[in-house]
Amino acid sequence: CTHVSERVNALAPSATLAMSQKSNELKAQGVDVINLSVGEPDFETPRHIKEAAKKAIDDNFTFYTPVPGYMSLRKAISDKLRNENGVDYAPEQITVSNGAKQALCNVILATINKGDEVIIPMPAWVSYVEMVKLAEGKPVEVKADISQDFKITPAQLESAITPATRMILLCSPSNPTGSVYSREELQGLVSVLAKHPQILVLADEIYEHINFTGSFTSMASFPEIADRTIIINGVSKAYAMTGWRIGYSAAPLWLAKAVNKLQGQYTSNASSVAQKAAEAAYTGSQECVAEMNKAFERRRNLVVELASQIPGLKVNRPTGAFYLFPEVSAYIGKTTPDGKKIGSSADIAMYLLESGHVATVDGGAFGMEGYIRLSYATSDDNIREALRRMAEAFAALK
Ligand code: PLP
Repeated sequence: CTHVSERVNALAPSATLAMSQKSNELKAQGVDVINLSVGEPDFETPRHIKEAAKKAIDDNFTFYTPVPGYMSLRKAISDKLRNENGVDYAPEQITVSNGAKQALCNVILATINKGDEVIIPMPAWVSYVEMVKLAEGKPVEVKADISQDFKITPAQLESAITPATRMILLCSPSNPTGSVYSREELQGLVSVLAKHPQILVLADEIYEHINFTGSFTSMASFPEIADRTIIINGVSKAYAMTGWRIGYSAAPLWLAKAVNKLQGQYTSNASSVAQKAAEAAYTGSQECVAEMNKAFERRRNLVVELASQIPGLKVNRPTGAFYLFPEVSAYIGKTTPDGKKIGSSADIAMYLLESGHVATVDGGAFGMEGYIRLSYATSDDNIREALRRMAEAFAALK
């Protein structure tokens, strides 16, 4: 007999993983698919980080670690937060987890009760809404489309707040849009939040280092809200370490203790070897980060230039992360060469995969129908060929 809980039945499957899987299936059949659906850097983990992991194994860092992670790693993270972001979190306030994903879920499960409202600017990364649902909270979606560069305004924030609001979840640089809030724009939101001391600020800063604006402002650097801001970050994107599964939360002490209690019953510590690798990432040369950022910026320029040439697509100029989120609604209502009606952006993503052999993700998965997400964390050649195929596929719609 099957017996899946209501909790899990209520979750949507991860659309990004589903699209990657479909694209892999086509590849396995011998189809030459270009995959622009994945959310990970295509670079290899830098050598000095891999060496540190090998050494950690030889030095027998193979036992359980403290639940929140090795003290040496938490110290390195605390130093990073002070030196790079100008924010103060003691090692005791930091919990290292299996990726930023678990760090986010830990904080949400440790703070959100049934019916608590969590404000989520949309479009947003696929997992936020599902994590809030897992905690029986109520996601309150605030939409910001391409006309406002996908950034919510202070007035929109103000009008979404109710007495039940417990948290806002902010992601800058953003997945799926690549938009980065400036310090002034964040200050506008902070001025609203300052009037509502019951609201926790969960700041997902995982794309901090993939940022072409030349500056990054951490949400915790605003004194008005610093004592109720939780920073989420990790090594996946900045150091090309997605598979190592190391992320962290930096939180007020009361919350860090609650997160540790939860994690202690649930997953214990993150991998000991991966923690030592992450420590090398934070304490070693940061040259690799700058190099990868430069490559991503060049690819951003390329993808924006090529996508802008496709008639009917509305394209902005993202300033961070490695995603482009063009509006494709001009093609909804058209018909494919084999007579299928395009009824949604999901149909467009499927058509691009099946006919153009380019995997993208439907904007609906991020809470914004009428758009698709392209990840440009791939080679310049792949970007050129993918955009050529997309242009051809769009041109064939009548
Ligand atoms: N937050 C955002 C916005 C992401 O895009 C991702 C990964 O795709 C994560 C968090 C999770 O990262 P990690 O690999 O550290 O779990």
